[in-house]
Amino acid sequence: METSTRQSAIKGGEFIIRETKASDVFIPEEATEEQQMIAQTCRDFLQQEVYPNLDKIDAQEPGLMQTILDKAGELGLLGISIPEEYGGFGKDFTTGMIATEFLGAGHSFSVAYAAHTGIGTLPILYYGTEEQKKKYIPNLASGKWKAAYCLTEPGSGSDANSAKTKAVLSADGKNWIINGQKMWITNGGFADVYIVFAKIDNDENLSAFIVERNFPGITLNPEEHKMGIKGSSTRQIFFNDCVVPLENQLSERGNGFKIAVNILNLGRIKLAGAAIGGCKRVATLSVQYANERQQFGRPIAKYGAIRVNLAEQAIRIFAAEAAIYRCSQNMEDAINALREQGMGGGRPS
Ligand SMILES: Cc1cc2nc3c(=O)[nH]c(=O)nc-3n(C[C@H](O)[C@H](O)[C@H](O)COP(=O)(O)OP(=O)(O)OC[C@H]3O[C@@H](n4cnc5c(N)ncnc54)[C@H](O)[C@@H]3O)c2cc1C
Repeated sequence: METSTRQSAIKGGEFIIRETKASDVFIPEEATEEQQMIAQTCRDFLQQEVYPNLDKIDAQEPGLMQTILDKAGELGLLGISIPEEYGGFGKDFTTGMIATEFLGAGHSFSVAYAAHTGIGTLPILYYGTEEQKKKYIPNLASGKWKAAYCLTEPGSGSDANSAKTKAVLSADGKNWIINGQKMWITNGGFADVYIVFAKIDNDENLSAFIVERNFPGITLNPEEHKMGIKGSSTRQIFFNDCVVPLENQLSERGNGFKIAVNILNLGRIKLAGAAIGGCKRVATLSVQYANERQQFGRPIAKYGAIRVNLAEQAIRIFAAEAAIYRCSQNMEDAINALREQGMGGGRPS
């Protein structure tokens, strides 16, 4: 497992008061040769597999997103930070962030990629038993199976722990029977594995379950028609007496809400990294257009008002990029501190 600790882990907003040496802060210019190669692989991947297909992706051509994810899996892009024993490359958090940033320029593909590698895969990697990890993680890291995360319901969004989906023990005590409705589920239309959050009996807190698409009792609504990221699959999923083997419960009873929010915490910083990748693509296309478009006999890039807008884009991207990579190093330091204290299992990717 690759690690790159720079300083002892910081807590919360401690970065404001603790003196930090410049050498403790990671900036993208310090990327290793290997990290640069991964970035280039991501760039090439988008050029070859995503950009030529943008219209077809937006039209949700059947099977296309899965095929592109399969190709990403063949290149190892779905398992960059997955430990080697589960079929990944075992790279550190910052390397995972670099891949997220570069693939973040991939329009709807980046949403499918992030949902699969993040909220879809990580609950099993961090909270799964050894058997669950061995069964699911190598297949998710290779892209053979695609993953989705089912938390939101019609009546519960921000207030996720108020979800109504219920799990009860079957009469023979061998399975959980899940009933309920989930909505806005990214990758819902093609995922093979769903992480489903439901309350056992009348519990106060959610529990989590690994639910395979071919378990009985699962139906889907048609694709949502969104304003943007139209190529990303977003579906409602219904669980009608869905039969889930007991061994597919993830972590202890009542631990689901903690799993859900911990995974979303990682999703938040990764989403920011992906957004930077998207912003850089927009800035590049903006400069290109401003140089090509002629008005009053000159490219519009010659006009101050346009230059101010382009400069504003660059300033904001620079600031956000600096924050993202600084935080990535902080995450890496925190992960390594936990590992030194003996915490095993998966690691944030
Ligand atoms: C494209 C897309 C993909 C998604 N993918 C998934 C997925 O894969 N899996 C999944 O489980 N979910 C998914 N979601 C759902 C997403 O996580 C929810 O939209 C989110 O949790 C917010 O819930 P909500 O939309 O019901 O908004 P609400 O919770 O109803 O919030 C509405 C507004 O009220 C504000 N608000 C709520 N509570 C407070 C408060 N206490 N104080 C101040 N303001 C408040 C919110 O900020 C928001 O502006 C997806 C959503 C979208 C749009």
